[in-house]
Amino acid sequence: MELPDIEVDFSKFPKVKTVALVTDSNVDRLYGDAAVRRIETSGLRVERIVFPAGERSKTLETYAELVRGFAALGMTRTDIAVALGGGVVGDLTGFAAATYMRGIDYVQVPTTLLAMVDSSIGGKTGVDIPEGKNLVGAFHLPSQIVRNVGFLATLPEREMKNGFAELIKTAILFDPELFAALSPRPSLDALAPLVERCARWKEKVVAADFREGGRRKLLNLGHTFGHAIESASSFRLSHGEAVAVGMRIVGRNVPEIGAILDEYGFPQVDDVFSEPLNLTQDDLRGYLANDKKRSGETITLVVPKRIGECELKDIPMSELDAWLK
Ligand code: ADP
Ligand code: ZN
Repeated sequence: MELPDIEVDFSKFPKVKTVALVTDSNVDRLYGDAAVRRIETSGLRVERIVFPAGERSKTLETYAELVRGFAALGMTRTDIAVALGGGVVGDLTGFAAATYMRGIDYVQVPTTLLAMVDSSIGGKTGVDIPEGKNLVGAFHLPSQIVRNVGFLATLPEREMKNGFAELIKTAILFDPELFAALSPRPSLDALAPLVERCARWKEKVVAADFREGGRRKLLNLGHTFGHAIESASSFRLSHGEAVAVGMRIVGRNVPEIGAILDEYGFPQVDDVFSEPLNLTQDDLRGYLANDKKRSGETITLVVPKRIGECELKDIPMSELDAWLK
């Protein structure tokens, strides 16, 4: 594959000598060689570290391979890591960079739509452990994020929809114009300004509220039910599909929400409770009770009032069933 431009500004790192280019097996096959050549033209030593693609690589073991890889390359505090890939690559590279020598700089080059608008922004890094997803991690902001929608030409449709669910979420939260621009579904050519606009919103929220006190909670729109559905389905539903159903559940009073999710072909609420998934309300209740966002007997839901305006509502756990009806 021809390499979309990777416009990393290495002059921001005056003392860098070695760049660790971290990527997964899929992205490496498509873009690895070209990316190495591109970074070498900046006169830097580039060393590639590749791990198998997929969420199953987001482990302490892969993390250990990365930091030991950095050490084996003799990287110092002024060297940098470049994360070329989706959210898994970004989270792992960010966590390795956060902790190697107590913190080195890293650059995000997101290659999935989801990573471009969501996971590359905000500095959340980490890995999964058998006890739960993202249970080990650190806040470590990337020094640069280089977005190029050219990478999306090779991205599978299921992964594209994961990203669109997050774009739709941001539009519902903050931006009626973005919402309008997302319907009908824009082509790749039209996507760059929408990706930038969505990313700006997330940056704004995160900057105002770095460690998730108030406003950052809004970004959980669709995610409280979404995470429960995703887990209860044993990940047969993708993140985007599950969040879309979550947005349908809390967005029932705003008909445009159901309408746009229909347009993209996201599942209906009923699909979750019927063949082949057959989840029950009990299944979901179990996961909701363990939600990180629960405090005591209430859980905070993000509830749309209209496109561009949502509110945080504390709901007693005992009332959750009514939402699932
Ligand atoms: P996400 O960004 O959705 O959190 P991943 O990092 O797991 O998740 O990426 C999703 C899948 O897409 C992985 O299999 C990854 O290798 C693959 N992938 C990432 N970027 C591209 C791309 N530009 N073209 C094709 N496949 C890609
Ligand atoms: Zn999400």
